[in-house]
Amino acid sequence: MRGLRPLLCAAALALAWSPARAADTLVQFSTLDALIHGVYDGPFTFSQIGRYGDFGLGTFNGLDGEMVGLDGVFYRIGVDGTAHVVDGATRSPFAVVTFFHPAKTVPLHGIGSLAALEEVLDRETGSPNLFYAIRIRGAFAKVAARSVVRQQPPYQPLTMVVKGQAVFALDSIHGTLVGFRCPPYVRGINVPGYHLHFLSDDHRHGGHILDCAIADGVAEIETLDTFRMFLPRDAAFLDADLSAHDEEAVRKVEKMAAPWK
Ligand code: ZN
Repeated sequence: MRGLRPLLCAAALALAWSPARAADTLVQFSTLDALIHGVYDGPFTFSQIGRYGDFGLGTFNGLDGEMVGLDGVFYRIGVDGTAHVVDGATRSPFAVVTFFHPAKTVPLHGIGSLAALEEVLDRETGSPNLFYAIRIRGAFAKVAARSVVRQQPPYQPLTMVVKGQAVFALDSIHGTLVGFRCPPYVRGINVPGYHLHFLSDDHRHGGHILDCAIADGVAEIETLDTFRMFLPRDAAFLDADLSAHDEEAVRKVEKMAAPWK
């Protein structure tokens, strides 16, 4: 009987642990540089992506809008700024997800800008060398969000596409920011620093965040110390020249200034 207890423990652990639901794990599909180089079609369905996270952000094949994943539901924010639930067969060329289990809660009051919010989050997250999942629910005084126009092949690089992006200024709106803080060393793979998408509480509006002001809210933070990446095996990805990384392109496509500045 002596060996029975460890065996039972091992069996219980095996049942509780599943590779798809590993804790504190950031899971991403394809790379940011592939997207910047115009690889806008990917093989990953939202049925697959949902097995690796209930929370996250990304985009859609054809670069057809901004994705927000919240509470296990994936939303597409189109170029008109409206949000719609995505079906499981829809595909993505780039997505970042996790199963969100926040370990830390931070109250937020009178945050005047995204830069001010990032200062608070820098303090609360600590070392830039880990990944963090961040959810911020609250009353937003202002949100500047963007989405992009669905593209047709042959695809232009993302720096060209964002010149035609639609920017929405939402005032006095309740909603949720969903996103991540990634370490500086993810250059080429993901966005170093903060990447946040917005979804209103009525699930009707949102987009990729360019700026925001928060009257009252709560930030919830989970530290992620495991990183997992799935890569496409289709021709668009295999044939893309990803040998060079353009730092300025990342700034242009992810961190453009807000319209009210
Ligand atoms: Zn985005």
